[in-house]
Amino acid sequence: MQLQELSWPAVAAVANDLPVVVPIAALEQHGRHLPVFTDSMLLGEIVRQAAEVLNDRVVWTPLLWLGNSHHHLEFAGTLSAAPRTYLDLLGDLIDNLVGHGFRRVVLLNGHGGNIVPAQQAVFEARQRYRQRSDLLLLATTYWLLGSQPNQVDPTLVQDRMGHACEWETSMILHLAPSLAGDVSRIEAVSSGMPFDPATQGWITRERSAPGHIGDPHHATAEKGQTLFRIFSRDVATFLERVIAWDGCSWDG
Ligand SMILES: [Zn+2]
Repeated sequence: MQLQELSWPAVAAVANDLPVVVPIAALEQHGRHLPVFTDSMLLGEIVRQAAEVLNDRVVWTPLLWLGNSHHHLEFAGTLSAAPRTYLDLLGDLIDNLVGHGFRRVVLLNGHGGNIVPAQQAVFEARQRYRQRSDLLLLATTYWLLGSQPNQVDPTLVQDRMGHACEWETSMILHLAPSLAGDVSRIEAVSSGMPFDPATQGWITRERSAPGHIGDPHHATAEKGQTLFRIFSRDVATFLERVIAWDGCSWDG
């Protein structure tokens, strides 16, 4: 069910054990060929498809389109909450939901820059509510839920998510082809991190002049349809695990 469609008495009557899912995304540059709302559009579609499977067993909040995108700010159009602001925003949302009595809260992420803040937000919230044994606080990212899309569709040339890459461009070509630019002459940009496995602070400008990372040249709408099917199924399967949690135990 959609939180925004309910009256407050209807929300109060919702079973507290229903998972509440907060989709979190971004509004940021996606190369010269994709709209700045790409991450929010893609996650919105994945949520729409997963919600068809889960029906009224999950409460969905509206998608939070403002994300942690400071590494893209040199590119026009990017809107971003500073990392600490964003961390506090997620923490406040968790506090709101726990305050209303919900016990299973999931931050469902669709943007790379949100991964660390979302993980930190659920970690900090668990410390705030450390006396409770009936809370399940989770953060996850849709492309990290287990499937290897290039094993399902061997025509995918990338083996991981990039940025405005083959995967994201394919999904936009399927979802909103009129918003995608010509990809026929776009050159690949390596996703390599030279100091791997260390975590290196980075801004997008130093890795990519056009703004994309990966190989959008190989994107097709058919690949996008496959990716949506894989990712929405992964999200639905994951949320089934959240629904099945016994409400109190670590392994539950
Ligand atoms: Zn993206």
